[in-house]
Amino acid sequence: MDFNDTPEEAAFRAEARAWLEANADPLEPGEAGGDLLGERVDAAALKAAKAWQKKKADAGWACITWPKEYGGRAATAIQSVIWNQEHAKFRTPANIFSIGIGMCGPTVLAHGTPEQRERWIPDLLSGEKVWCQLFSEPAAGSDLAGLRSTAVRDGDDWIVNGQKIWTTGAHFCDWGIIVVRSDPGAAKHAGLTYFVVDMHAPGVEIRPITQINGGKGFNEVFFTDVRIPDDQRLDAVGNGWRVALTTLMNERASIGGSAGASAIEDLFRLAREIEVGGQPVIEDPAVRQKLADFYVRSAGVKYTGLRTITALSKGTMPGPEASLGKLIGAILGQNMAAYAMELQGVAGGITSDPATTPHQGAWQDRYLGLPGLRIAGGTDEILRNIIAERVLGLPPEARVDKGVAFKDIPSGPPSA
Ligand SMILES: Cc1cc2nc3c(=O)[nH]c(=O)nc-3n(C[C@H](O)[C@H](O)[C@H](O)COP(=O)(O)OP(=O)(O)OC[C@H]3O[C@@H](n4cnc5c(N)ncnc54)[C@H](O)[C@@H]3O)c2cc1C
Repeated sequence: MDFNDTPEEAAFRAEARAWLEANADPLEPGEAGGDLLGERVDAAALKAAKAWQKKKADAGWACITWPKEYGGRAATAIQSVIWNQEHAKFRTPANIFSIGIGMCGPTVLAHGTPEQRERWIPDLLSGEKVWCQLFSEPAAGSDLAGLRSTAVRDGDDWIVNGQKIWTTGAHFCDWGIIVVRSDPGAAKHAGLTYFVVDMHAPGVEIRPITQINGGKGFNEVFFTDVRIPDDQRLDAVGNGWRVALTTLMNERASIGGSAGASAIEDLFRLAREIEVGGQPVIEDPAVRQKLADFYVRSAGVKYTGLRTITALSKGTMPGPEASLGKLIGAILGQNMAAYAMELQGVAGGITSDPATTPHQGAWQDRYLGLPGLRIAGGTDEILRNIIAERVLGLPPEARVDKGVAFKDIPSGPPSA
């Protein structure tokens, strides 16, 4: 693949950049981009994020790969990458729409009826409504199909009970995508059904979780006799796993491996700025050796990411290379953040007063946030399993629950 822009791509990049320049300010060198996980979203940040999304929607830059009939511009995967690259260079509000636009919208477009798309897509695209993903439960994360929240049919409604956890942004969301068990008598993956739930419905209780960096990005969400009308079901009863796979494919593709690759230039800049004994630390041979190692690994992540883009540009879903990029990129990002804090000496330990640290605490924030990235969207171990099975051709994990009715799978302590 030729990594340079084709003339068409260059023209598209120029058009995207011109619009961004006219509507936003470029980031200063070293300035962190938007709050990706919505950890510090107050009323003002929510308002600003919605206004920015509306502005993009009015100009046709909101969800550029979506069909034109739904407000997109039917852009190619490469154009989407170019747009995201250019967008990342500008100071923009918190990206509270990443789950809605990256995962929920594509799932509604793929599995929703025409009425459901009409109902939900325009508000999502224009930023009026914010969406979250209610998949994980206290006992179902990597093993998502082991989830225990239930849905029982009652006339035209379903009654949902159970608990979800780690729900990013639930505290400011209007709609959520939720997978629940509708048939405990069916095998694990077969008894699931997928709904869109109103986050303001009676019986939905949201409790924020405070994170190590002080942010409150995600939540526990409790469902007590919550009624979901049947017309908010996506796809057939019992087809929830199939729909969830569409969401998860989009999740992995959108998380990618950028965490490590994008930080390398900042790390070089930091090493030029910090001085020891009157010399910039970048002149120290030991530091240079470490930087060279990070550079090589970053390049590997960057080019693996470009393989994902190649897959997208050929119209195929990204394969195991997306898992590789996320696995290596998140670990690399964490290693680089740790090294950047080491280079800062005592300032590296300051998290309470970002203004007094080099790069305004961006490295400390990365260091505390990146462990989360190593868990979200597939933990390191799950990604290694994928690579083992799909790249190295090793035998799959043993599946003792295959074909067994969910209610008959042993769980919890044995009864007396
Ligand atoms: C920042 C962040 C945001 C998130 N946002 C959302 C959200 O918006 N919505 C949502 O639904 N969820 C969200 N999650 C939850 C996330 O999807 C889960 O945390 C993730 O799937 C892991 O599940 P778990 O936490 O239950 O860990 P577990 O699956 O219980 O894993 C525990 C440990 O066991 C290991 N392990 C598990 N299975 C295997 C195996 N088969 N082989 C080897 N090792 C294994 C894991 O790697 C891990 O080290 C978020 C998580 C984070 C960190």
